[in-house]
Amino acid sequence: MTQIAHAERDHALLSASGAHRWLVCTPSARLEDTLPDTESEAAKRGTLAHEIAELKLQKLFSGLTTRKYNAVLKKFKAHELYEPNMDDHTDAYLDYIQSIVHSFPSPPFVAIERKVTYDHIAPEGFGTSDCIIIGAGKLYVIDYKNGQGVPVPAEDNPQMKLYALGAFKAFSLLFPIEEVHVAIVQPKVWDQPSEWSLSAAELLAWGESIKPIAQQAFAGEGDYVVGEHCGFCRARNTCRARVGQLMSVEDKAPLKPPLISWEEVGDVLRRADGIVSWYNSLKKLALSEVLKGGNVPGWKAVEGRGSREFADLDAAFAYLKEKGIDEAILYDRKPLTPAQIENSLTKKVYKELLEEPGHVISKPGAPTLAPEGDKRPAISDQVKPEEAFSEPVGS
Ligand code: SF4
Repeated sequence: MTQIAHAERDHALLSASGAHRWLVCTPSARLEDTLPDTESEAAKRGTLAHEIAELKLQKLFSGLTTRKYNAVLKKFKAHELYEPNMDDHTDAYLDYIQSIVHSFPSPPFVAIERKVTYDHIAPEGFGTSDCIIIGAGKLYVIDYKNGQGVPVPAEDNPQMKLYALGAFKAFSLLFPIEEVHVAIVQPKVWDQPSEWSLSAAELLAWGESIKPIAQQAFAGEGDYVVGEHCGFCRARNTCRARVGQLMSVEDKAPLKPPLISWEEVGDVLRRADGIVSWYNSLKKLALSEVLKGGNVPGWKAVEGRGSREFADLDAAFAYLKEKGIDEAILYDRKPLTPAQIENSLTKKVYKELLEEPGHVISKPGAPTLAPEGDKRPAISDQVKPEEAFSEPVGS
């Protein structure tokens, strides 16, 4: 296993984004540090969206010329991971920051993509805060999130609190800070940013309270604790504690009824949910290991099902037409879905042209089983989904 040296890391061992994990499972930070950091396509797309957001803020606050701005934006838009809705979403982030800036009686201090250190709380702790605004005794720490898979609320968010502690450390001698406001702009999840506030005294007290946990995490000590925080842990597929929990089976007492109860059904479903995604990730990991020449006893890599493709599509179609094949047989002309059109047109244009005039009707999805903590309201046969959501969108 490779031990990544501290100097090679571009993030802190006790990173702010991983705090929700190392604060609960203290040995996880050191364990993750022994594993390669592979960046997913979603993470790369998030980086691109962040760069666009930063560029827009620079134009607004740092005097970036329109010419330079347009040139860089054009380059970003030509990127293979660029999506038209990135423009919309980063505009929403920009609008939010402007609304905060304009809420001050006089222009506040604004820092964009500022490195902050919170090493007085967590050893060697540092991170980059997307936007810091300070004025009139208030500190704002604002973060942009491009993802849609996992909603990240601002409330009690340790990443945001660590950034706030770093900002407080850096700027409280220059500016008095009494109130701390944190906000997460996640346009793919929420129409409005998620906001949360606390007093500076409460923030500092929280910082003090986590110091011993951070020391333990830095030393790699403590117990492995499995939970929702395992989701993005680099060790999630092969962590013994997690595998043990996923595979554990309740002891079977001899005199139980032959059929399992609904309570047990709930428990089995909850466990199986984790097992399915873990099993798929573990298979991917094992495949890459055997392809590298490694040995995973009982498993080997084989060729999957192949596919056919045209050697030269244009030439093949021209030939078919020449042979009298009707073009209608060769093409499948299908209208795009509202979601696909929204993606191409941007949210704003889609709303104006399709949603507001009532061209799009919102239809409920088929009932699906979700964990109790899911944000959607529960439905049952007493309230039919089509009765609950029969209004056209925008009416
Ligand atoms: S997978 Fe979960 S239990 Fe294992 S190290 Fe990571 S956070 Fe801890």
